[in-house]
Amino acid sequence: MPCEVKPRFVVLYGSQKGQAESIAEGIAEAAQEHGLVAELSCLNQKEKYNLEEENAPVVFVVSTTGDGEPPDNALQFVRGIKKKTLSTDHYKHLCYALLALGDTNYANFCNCGKTIERRLQELGAKQFYATGYADDGVGLELTVDPWIEGLWKAIKGALTKMDSNQTAHLKGDVEDSSKETLDSSIPDVQLNLLSLTDQQSCKPASPAGSPGLESQSCGTPGTFTSVLKTQTGAAGVPRAALAASLTRSLPPLSESSLNVPALPAPYLDVSLQDVSSCEQITGPLNKETLYEVPISRAVQMTRGDSVKMSLLLELDISAYPTMAYQPGDAFDVYCPNRASEVDNMLHRLGLYDLRNHHALVSLKKDTKKKGAQLPSYIPQNISLLYMLTWCLEIRSVPKKAFLRALVEHTGDSEQRRRLQELCSKQGAADYNLYVRDPSLSVLELLTAFPSCSPPLSLLIEHLPKLQSRPYSAASSRLRHPGKLHFVFSVVELAACSGRPVGRQGLCTGWLLDLTNPDLAFPGKAESSSSPALPRIHVSLRANCAFRPPSDPSVPFIMVGPGTGVAPFIGFLQQRENERRENPGAIFGETWLFFGCRHRDRDYLFREELEGFVSNGTLNQLKVCFSRDAQEEEEAATSAVWPRYVQHNLQLNRQHITDILFKQNGYLYVCGDAKNMAKDVNDALVEMIKKELQVDQLEAMKRLAGLREEKRYLQDIWG
Ligand code: FAD
Ligand code: NAP
Repeated sequence: MPCEVKPRFVVLYGSQKGQAESIAEGIAEAAQEHGLVAELSCLNQKEKYNLEEENAPVVFVVSTTGDGEPPDNALQFVRGIKKKTLSTDHYKHLCYALLALGDTNYANFCNCGKTIERRLQELGAKQFYATGYADDGVGLELTVDPWIEGLWKAIKGALTKMDSNQTAHLKGDVEDSSKETLDSSIPDVQLNLLSLTDQQSCKPASPAGSPGLESQSCGTPGTFTSVLKTQTGAAGVPRAALAASLTRSLPPLSESSLNVPALPAPYLDVSLQDVSSCEQITGPLNKETLYEVPISRAVQMTRGDSVKMSLLLELDISAYPTMAYQPGDAFDVYCPNRASEVDNMLHRLGLYDLRNHHALVSLKKDTKKKGAQLPSYIPQNISLLYMLTWCLEIRSVPKKAFLRALVEHTGDSEQRRRLQELCSKQGAADYNLYVRDPSLSVLELLTAFPSCSPPLSLLIEHLPKLQSRPYSAASSRLRHPGKLHFVFSVVELAACSGRPVGRQGLCTGWLLDLTNPDLAFPGKAESSSSPALPRIHVSLRANCAFRPPSDPSVPFIMVGPGTGVAPFIGFLQQRENERRENPGAIFGETWLFFGCRHRDRDYLFREELEGFVSNGTLNQLKVCFSRDAQEEEEAATSAVWPRYVQHNLQLNRQHITDILFKQNGYLYVCGDAKNMAKDVNDALVEMIKKELQVDQLEAMKRLAGLREEKRYLQDIWG
């Protein structure tokens, strides 16, 4: 039989946390079903692709990290295409599509994708399919799934245009699709605004029968390839009579046909060996590259009845002179998974008795997964217990592909159906409600679905690397030589369907446990006679972009409610020191906008901030209390009660805009990204409109101008 040569295309990804990588892998894996061959590479694997001579369509999948930066493994590529020496026809032979991942909670949404796109076009490349901008803030899948659905037709269209030999055997819709694609005038559509493509017409293949997966595909399959049939509740009980929950759905979902993601190809094998030589290592991965430091002081910053508990910890870094942090820097804390959860997971997998066995992970020989690789964060020669404690984020929220894979290991038919619903297109709202929004962990999910017994290899395939947690330095070394302070609020995740009792955040709960019995040890020095201080592993995470102005005479404004005030304590300690050492020097005005819930319960650093005001380091301290009753005195003097920092900014808008637009000053914002930073941004637009007498668009441009000049800086998270 003649061997059919399938047309090829190239998939290139740049990924920081693995999301872009797994989407790119999904595209490469699905290629075969569409009669295509995908060549998958990471952007930093330059030896594996050659864009200078590429004549097949190229699909880019790139995420954005930090303040709009490319992921580490795309940095070199981005730098390369930015070179001014490249001519405007450098990529004129190239035809590409691009899927950009980002998060609208952060500034510079999808900036890396936009940068690559702009440069490709400047260098003559042609777009064959509209760019997708996927927003992690609302769910990447809202854009990613329809984008991939449309990709296949577009690739085939591009191929017919580019190489008629290669596409000679492609049939059907190709001719039509080629008319719609490879058109350099394709608008840059925000695909995340598209509604999901309607696959309702894709009916189950067979009539009523036992529920389960059909192997049939829909007409225009994307990542969703399988169709499921409907099912009634157990023992004839109509589901509508019961309340919906993580484990139970209501009509119409419970009666709907389902489009579920393609089953991810398994690619790992794990063997557990009773090897006496298995090294019993403890502590985080690569701990020799980290700083191990004692917690020399722990202070509860909030009163017992405050909404959130905040702690200040002092690290003794005197043993490490190289840990020369600056105000504005953060550092990473490496925490283990909670021992009780690791034990529960081991019991749940039936592997508790084998926990000290050597876990040997290898690639499945016959795997169908394209570009399958061993997880780089699972070293050889470790025990199963170590792997679950220090390598894998066992608290991570299961993605839909993981749920889809779990279906195959679930015995009970009702539980199978519910897992199928949760990963289906039709069950997207339930997934958000019961899994994503409450940050349900894999362990919580397995507990709720007792008939689900996944193999260990599946968990390793789907659980991400255990991430370190960053914290902003809340001190200056000039004020506290050999010490580093940070402040955090203990995250409390509420009980929900699937979580009978609330739980604390992993790192903040761990830090609290480490220091709790010792909260009364302020100032205790480590000595041979005193009990050992708790020690943690950390690494420095410099942020050169978030520093006080290099010229001390320039005025600056800081906005940091809650623990967002942390870096500004460092800024002010440094400024206080500089003022003391340079009595004749000119220092620009400093403003701080702080907000908390109650004056008497969670006003962090109150004494220190008031001290900065009285010694002239801080010129203006504007504090608001979001849940204190409006004080009569304030009510009499101010027309608007400033509940949040942005209200206080509005009340001082003339000064603020003067500082920013007349005195070349700086504005820094730190803290919650989801609500506060967005609302502060909106307030700034309003203030500019009023003070500079410009319209909305012009005000937004002025603010964007400040950002470009790096005079409006954010260090936000959430
Ligand atoms: P996890 O176990 O990771 O759980 C967090 C989960 O809870 C998430 O799913 C999240 O959606 C949810 N959640 C709900 N409310 C919150 C909330 N208010 N905060 C966090 N998660 C929430 N935090 C500080 O307290 N002080 C700092 O100085 C600080 N600096 C940071 C600097 C940078 C550059 C970054 C990126 C983050 C910073 N953070 C800071 C956040 C910090 O890194 C952790 O994410 C946070 O402490 C929660 O960690 P955890 O392991 O306890 O929670
Ligand atoms: P918080 O929960 O953010 O609350 C602080 C104050 O902000 C409260 O008075 C709260 O009021 C108010 N607030 C709520 N919504 C607001 C809005 N839309 N605009 C303005 N103010 C609003 O305090 P926190 O617990 O300290 O949390 C701070 C967040 O910042 C955490 O998520 C932390 O992890 C993060 N953080 C990030 C960095 C960084 O990225 N470098 C550094 C430090 C902290 P009400 O509750 O009464 O509404």
